[in-house]
Amino acid sequence: MADYRNCSVLQCMTCNTVLGDSLGICGEVQSLQSIICLKVTEDVKVDKKLEMSLNGQLAFSTYQVLHCAGCHGAVGLALHSTPEHLSALRNLFLLRKELMNCYMLRSGTCVKASKVNFKHRPVDKNIKELKQDLEAQLKQVKILEEMMEKLYTDSVSVV
Ligand SMILES: [Zn+2]
Repeated sequence: MADYRNCSVLQCMTCNTVLGDSLGICGEVQSLQSIICLKVTEDVKVDKKLEMSLNGQLAFSTYQVLHCAGCHGAVGLALHSTPEHLSALRNLFLLRKELMNCYMLRSGTCVKASKVNFKHRPVDKNIKELKQDLEAQLKQVKILEEMMEKLYTDSVSVV
């Protein structure tokens, strides 16, 4: 169980709409000055249009812009396809730190998200490990399938 006293809520700096909370946050990407979220609130609207970046940190990546439902301002992005070094961030919500306020439930205080360190959970590593596990399992399934196929064709040829 999460300790709710230590929870914080991410709010849009412009209109105070709640966009996420610390339970959905799994880290931050310093190079993009963004908070990584597995989950965001329904007030984060994902733009249907796929954008492409040709330079900067997001060079050769495609992404969808995230909008705040309250003020319609762009608040972050969700990466679609990326070069290898950003692959762990695909399909996660990246909220721009400088556009968020962080409301601490325990103290009832509001601070700029840019002043908070969200690097408490190394999501990058976890997801990479998860992916490796999955790939290993898939490989085993494939081997099994091949074995069964071989067994089947063998028994057919006997008959
Ligand atoms: Zn807003």
